[in-house]
Amino acid sequence: MDRGKVYIVGAGPGDMELLTLKAKRCVEEADCIVYDRLINKRILKFAKPDAELIYLGKLNTEGGVIQDEINQTLVREALKGKVVTRLKGGDPFVFGRGGEEIQEILKEGIPFEVVPGITSSISVPAYSGIPVTHRGISRSFHVFTGHTMEDGGWHNFDAIAKLQGTLVFLMGVKNLSLISGDLMKYGKDPETPVGIIEKGSTSKQRVIRGKLSDIVEIAAKEDVKPPAIIIIGGVVDLREEFNWFEKKELFGKKILVTRDEKQAEAMSSIIEKKGGEAVELPLIQIEDQMKDFDYSEIKKYKCLLFNSQNGVRSFFKYIPDMRLIGDIKIGVVGVKTKEELSKVKIVPDFMPGEYTGELLAKEASEHTEKGDNILFVTSDISPSNSQEWSVKYDRNFEKIAAYKTIKVKKDKNEVLEALKGVDIVTFLSSSTAEAFVESLEGDLSKAEGVKFASIGPVTSDTMKKLGLSVDIEAKSFTAEGILKAIEEAM
Ligand code: SAH
Repeated sequence: MDRGKVYIVGAGPGDMELLTLKAKRCVEEADCIVYDRLINKRILKFAKPDAELIYLGKLNTEGGVIQDEINQTLVREALKGKVVTRLKGGDPFVFGRGGEEIQEILKEGIPFEVVPGITSSISVPAYSGIPVTHRGISRSFHVFTGHTMEDGGWHNFDAIAKLQGTLVFLMGVKNLSLISGDLMKYGKDPETPVGIIEKGSTSKQRVIRGKLSDIVEIAAKEDVKPPAIIIIGGVVDLREEFNWFEKKELFGKKILVTRDEKQAEAMSSIIEKKGGEAVELPLIQIEDQMKDFDYSEIKKYKCLLFNSQNGVRSFFKYIPDMRLIGDIKIGVVGVKTKEELSKVKIVPDFMPGEYTGELLAKEASEHTEKGDNILFVTSDISPSNSQEWSVKYDRNFEKIAAYKTIKVKKDKNEVLEALKGVDIVTFLSSSTAEAFVESLEGDLSKAEGVKFASIGPVTSDTMKKLGLSVDIEAKSFTAEGILKAIEEAM
C-alpha cells in the first residue's frame, strides 16, 4: 500500500516572506496540511484548491493531548496515501516537537522529510534590531525554553548565569520572574539589558526593554502576552541604532484586502513590503464575458474606450488577431488601465487627465467623426451614459460588459474571524463595500474600532449610504493610492 509522505516543515516566525522556497513547494504539493497557531495564514494560499486544511493549534503552551491528536492525524492522513505537510511556526526542531512527530511516523514506516524553518529565536530579535551575536559584545547565544519540566525540574541557573553570551528564552512570559530572579540569584548583573519581543516580525510586533532588575515590573505594567521572546544581554541595546522593521511605512497596520482573489495578492504584497500585515477576504469575483463575443464585429467601431484593467484583460484575452483593431483609436482612463494595455503593446491615443467617463467620452469625440461608432469596454455595473453621450457628441456610443463583478457574500463568522486584529478595511469598489455589509448581515457593531478606507469618491458614497465611515480616501484611484493614503493618515 502507498504510505504517503509527511513533510515536517518550518514556516518561519510570522512574516510570510520568511518561508523558504522548499517549504512553499511542500505546501503546494500537499494533499493535506496540518498547521498551528503561529504560522502566517496567508501561506495556506499556496495550497492546492482541494487540499484538506486542518488546524490543530495549541494555545502557546505545548499541550500533551493536542500533540497526540496531531501525531494521530499525521499518521492517519499519510496512511491514506496522501502527501501531508505539517506546518509549524519557526523551525520544527526548536521547541517544535517535530522529533516526536517523526517518532510516531516512523512507527508506521511512513516516509518523511524535514524542512528547517527560520526560527523565532534569532529572527524575532533580528526584526527588533537586536543581533544575537555582535563583535565585542556577545560571542555566543543560548536558547532555552522558559517552561519548567512536567516534574517541576528547572534549568541549571547556576551554570546559565555564568554564560557570557546572549540568552534567549522562548515560552518564557509566564516564568519571567523566575528566570530573571534565578539569573540574578546566581550572579548575573542586575543591570544586564533585557528585551521582550511580542508577536515578532508581524505588524503587531512590540518590544519592551528593561534590566534584569526591573523587567518583571515593566512587563507586568505593559501586560506582555505570548507569543514573546525574552532576550538578555548587551546586544539588546543595539536596538537603539538597529531598529528597522518598526520604521517601515505601514508597520503596525493589519489591513483587510477585499479585492477579488486574483488581484488580492498584488495588493497584499505591497502591504507586506511596507511592513504591514495583509489579511485577504475576497468579497467580489471577476468573471470575464468576452468568450462568445464576435470579434469580427469590431471593425465597425472607430474607437475603443477602456476604464479598467479587467476590461482590458478580458477584451484581449479572446481577441483572435490583433490586426482587427489596427485602425481603431483607443482611449483609456486610469494609470492602471494604461499599464494593462501596455502589456499587449498598445499605447492609447488619448487619456484624459482625470478619471471620469465624461472626459473619456469627450476626448473620444475629438478623435472621431460625426456618426462614428464608439465602443466602451467596461463592466456590467460600470456607470456609462452611452445614450446621453451619443446625443451630446453626435456619435454612436455603445457599451459592452467585458467582465462581470459578482459580489461574494461570506458567512458572518468568516468575516468576523478575518477581522480579528484588523486595523483598516479597504474597499476598492462599491461592490466590495456592499458585500462586506451584507456578509455581516448589516451588523456593523462588530467592526467597531476598525477604520475604513476607500479607493475614491464613488466607493465612498456607497460606503456612506451603507453606514460605513469613510476614514481614509485615496487621492489616486489605485491599490497603491489607497495604501499611500493610509500611510499619510497614520
Ligand atoms: N519552533 C518555534 C518555537 C515554538 S515554541 C520556533 O522555532 O520559533 C513557541 C514560542 O516561540 C513562543 O512561546 C514564543 O516564545 C516563540 N515565538 C514564536 N514565534 C514568535 C513570534 N512571532 N514572536 C515572538 N515569539 C515567538
